[in-house]
Amino acid sequence: MSKTIVIGGGIIGLSLGWQLAKKGVSVEILERGKSGTGASFAAAGMLAPQAEMGFDDIELFYLCRKSLEMFPKFTYELYEDCGIKVELEKTGCILPGFDRDDAERLRRLYDFREKIGMPVLWVSSSEAREIEPFLSPKCTGAIWIDDDAQINNRKLLDALKIAFEKCGGKLYEDHEVENVNIKNGKVNGVKVHGIEVESDNVIVAGGAWSKQIPGLPENLLPPVRPVKGQIINLRLNDSCRVTKVIRAPDVYLLPKSDGRLIVGASCEEMGFDVNPTAGEIFKLLERGWEAVPAIYDLPIDSIDVGLRPGSRDHMPIVGDSDIEGLFFATGHYRNGILLTPITAYELSEWIISGNASSALNGFGISRFYKQTA
Ligand SMILES: Cc1cc2nc3c(=O)[nH]c(=O)nc-3n(C[C@H](O)[C@H](O)[C@H](O)COP(=O)(O)OP(=O)(O)OC[C@H]3O[C@@H](n4cnc5c(N)ncnc54)[C@H](O)[C@@H]3O)c2cc1C
Repeated sequence: MSKTIVIGGGIIGLSLGWQLAKKGVSVEILERGKSGTGASFAAAGMLAPQAEMGFDDIELFYLCRKSLEMFPKFTYELYEDCGIKVELEKTGCILPGFDRDDAERLRRLYDFREKIGMPVLWVSSSEAREIEPFLSPKCTGAIWIDDDAQINNRKLLDALKIAFEKCGGKLYEDHEVENVNIKNGKVNGVKVHGIEVESDNVIVAGGAWSKQIPGLPENLLPPVRPVKGQIINLRLNDSCRVTKVIRAPDVYLLPKSDGRLIVGASCEEMGFDVNPTAGEIFKLLERGWEAVPAIYDLPIDSIDVGLRPGSRDHMPIVGDSDIEGLFFATGHYRNGILLTPITAYELSEWIISGNASSALNGFGISRFYKQTA
């Protein structure tokens, strides 16, 4: 069986590595720092295709939906391979409005979702507060989606690392890929710590840094940029026990099973800067407080900052390329946790069988060749 190198030990690299190793491929993951400390750690862990979707995202929505359906199988297989249960939590999600402007916007979103057959419900202000009693009394009405879910992404990362290694994969941390080696239209390995390492396949899963990896041909540089996201982790207590995911205008509040209430997330074009900033934290807390006034007295646990890998069209870049043996799994932007199962299952099958995945059709890097041409 051929050898595969995965560049990047985030959730995408680890899950691909695990699936390939499980199927008998010799796999090495090369991670520049410590695996699972990039965007995948900072993420909130929402699995929310319905709440997340805008009017223009229909293809992405179907991909996300398929991936959400794969989660129970994915977490079960993971449990079998590493002994850690990472539960899918069906907390449901409420999208409240607080004034006429919100109400009109929500109505449009609701009508659109209903038209394409999503299981959404329009609820009055009092019904919304029955579903989530900590919602502000200023709520004028809401959309309720009871089958969006969430997961503990940090536990998922720990489980994936163990499963990958138990299936025979090798994880090398503090191993920065310095070059992707390509000769005569075929990939033949990478350079790390000045040493050439051979392999038949290379998968670029470097998250927001994917475009920076040296050696990729100019026309195959994935158009991925870092999109900064800050979140505040509050600690829930009896004064405020939110149980539902709340997606209010420009902020979400997400109760986690480990006792955190995540208030997130900023969406900033700040290059590779990962400093938390007073202004964004202030805005998030203010908006969060407007939606759930009782957060005012909650203790602050920590602040996390991550860099989402945002592609030019905000769709993931997953699939093969013109260079034999060179694959991409990057650009997952706001949905990388949600899109983990479909990326890992479909791309690992593709690499092993040589047959392109129909589920990933249209998400490959080739869609950008046309744009540059
Ligand atoms: C604040 C925030 C909230 C989010 N919330 C959600 C959510 O609720 N639901 C959801 O689905 N998604 C969410 N996301 C998006 C999600 O986190 C990302 O899409 C996903 O984590 C991307 O995974 P990744 O493995 O591609 O990237 P990363 O986790 O960033 O991993 C990439 C890795 O590649 C390594 N690397 C880069 N270059 C090299 C190199 N040359 N050599 C070796 N290693 C290299 C890096 O060190 C890094 O560890 C959120 C993101 C943020 C920032």
